[in-house]
Amino acid sequence: MADGCVFCDIVAGKFGTTFLYEDDALVAFADLRPVAPSHLLVVPRAHFADLPAVAAAPGGTALIGRLGAAAAKLGAQESKGAGFRVVVNTGAEAGQTVFHVHLHVLSGRRFSWPPG
Ligand code: 5GP
Ligand code: ZN
Repeated sequence: MADGCVFCDIVAGKFGTTFLYEDDALVAFADLRPVAPSHLLVVPRAHFADLPAVAAAPGGTALIGRLGAAAAKLGAQESKGAGFRVVVNTGAEAGQTVFHVHLHVLSGRRFSWPPG
C-alpha cells in the first residue's frame, strides 16, 4: 500500500466503494467521472505505479493476465456483445493521472480511432 494513493485507499475500503468484481488479486469499480455509459476500472490490490512496473515485478506477467481476463469478462458483460474498449494510460503524456496501474473498460457507445 502506497501512502496518499487514492486507489490503495479504495482497495482498502476506505470510501466504501462498491466493487462490481473482486478476487484475491484485483477489484473492479465504476469510474468517478465516466467517459462512456459503462466505464469501469480494473485495479490490482497491490500497488504498482504503471504497467511496466507490474511487468517488471515477480509474478507480474501472471497478474497482467489476471487483469486482462477480468477486463475481458467485465467488458463482455457490460457491452452485451456490442464491443468494448480496454485502455491503460501509461505516463502523464499518455493521460495517466492516477499512478496505481488500472485498466479502463469502456462500453455503451461507439469509439473513434485514433484516440485523442
Ligand atoms: P487515468 O487518467 O490515470 O488513466 O485514470 C484515472 C481514472 O480514475 C480517471 O478516469 C478518474 O476519473 C478516476 N478516478 C480518480 N479518482 C477516483 C476516485 O476517487 N474514485 C473513482 N471511482 N475513480 C476515480
Ligand atoms: Zn496504490
